[in-house]
Amino acid sequence: MRAAVIKEWGKPLSIEDVPKPEPGPGEVLVRIHASGVCHTDIHQWKGDWSSVKYIMEKHGVRILGHEGIGVVEEVGLGVSRLRKGDRVGVPWMNSWCGACESCLSGYPHWCPHAVNTSVHVNGTHAEYAIIHEKAAPKIPKEIGDVEAAPLMCAGVTAYGAIRKLVTEARIPPGKPIAIIGAAGGLGHYAVQIAKAFGYVVLGVDVGEDRVKFVEKIGADYAIDAKSAEKFAKEKFGGVYASVVFTPKIAGYELGLMMLRPLGALVSVGLPDVKEGVIPLYPLTVVGMGIRVFGSVVGVTHEFEELFNLVVAGKVKSHITMIADLSEINTIFKELEEGKIVGRAVLKI
Ligand SMILES: [Zn+2]
Ligand SMILES: [Zn+2]
Repeated sequence: MRAAVIKEWGKPLSIEDVPKPEPGPGEVLVRIHASGVCHTDIHQWKGDWSSVKYIMEKHGVRILGHEGIGVVEEVGLGVSRLRKGDRVGVPWMNSWCGACESCLSGYPHWCPHAVNTSVHVNGTHAEYAIIHEKAAPKIPKEIGDVEAAPLMCAGVTAYGAIRKLVTEARIPPGKPIAIIGAAGGLGHYAVQIAKAFGYVVLGVDVGEDRVKFVEKIGADYAIDAKSAEKFAKEKFGGVYASVVFTPKIAGYELGLMMLRPLGALVSVGLPDVKEGVIPLYPLTVVGMGIRVFGSVVGVTHEFEELFNLVVAGKVKSHITMIADLSEINTIFKELEEGKIVGRAVLKI
């Protein structure tokens, strides 16, 4: 099969023929038709995250990509939920144990035995990929391959974070919440999802163009970061939650400053570890009753809920680039240089 393969960390990927993977028990082989490019690909490719690099090396993983969409071509032993011809996604969560406390409490995202696409098993920037059947969401016919691809990581990560405002933070609809980094790849989904959930959405970003974009996608208030705290305090006495997508500690600082008492901080964006920690003083936690939640990607039922919103026209993908697999090095370079606004998808 044709695949984009890492030969050396951070060096151009090589498009070559490699052996097709074989589905093990419970797994399916998916013929990939579209594969979204995520900023995480860049970090993995350059070997920025040592623990991820270590696991990739240990498992001989050299193919990136965790936003794959395709059709089941072969099923492994014991597969019962999926069959040949089903159109499915291949997201970051490739498998989980199903029996540990995290899995049984509804959060396989934090299963210690989880298998991640492009980390423990080869990814989706290739003609074929494998996934455990329980982890592969079925794609509704109303959503095309290219449109579905970025939902696999960016879309579901935003969905999982907004969902926690209901399930964990218990914030009723109608309350004001802030999305920090609202114009970004994840933030623009979060604005639309939070609106669909019935929240009053303060979309925060930096610079005139990005703030205009936040307004266009439907935020109730599109605000520049420099005036966001004052606005939130004066208008609402602070927001009930700040969901932070910005990979900068400054975004976390702003998110905290915008909160009202008993507010929730939902952490999604990952600043470079060199930037330091979230400045959360015990005085703030105790005095304000602040709560903090982490949120990472999403799993099967969250995909189904997100797809319902997409099919209903409430959530749209902002795809700005569609390219052939052979153009992957150009896309990586442009993404690294911050030149791609919205999401890029490879057709395979
Ligand atoms: Zn991703
Ligand atoms: Zn588990």
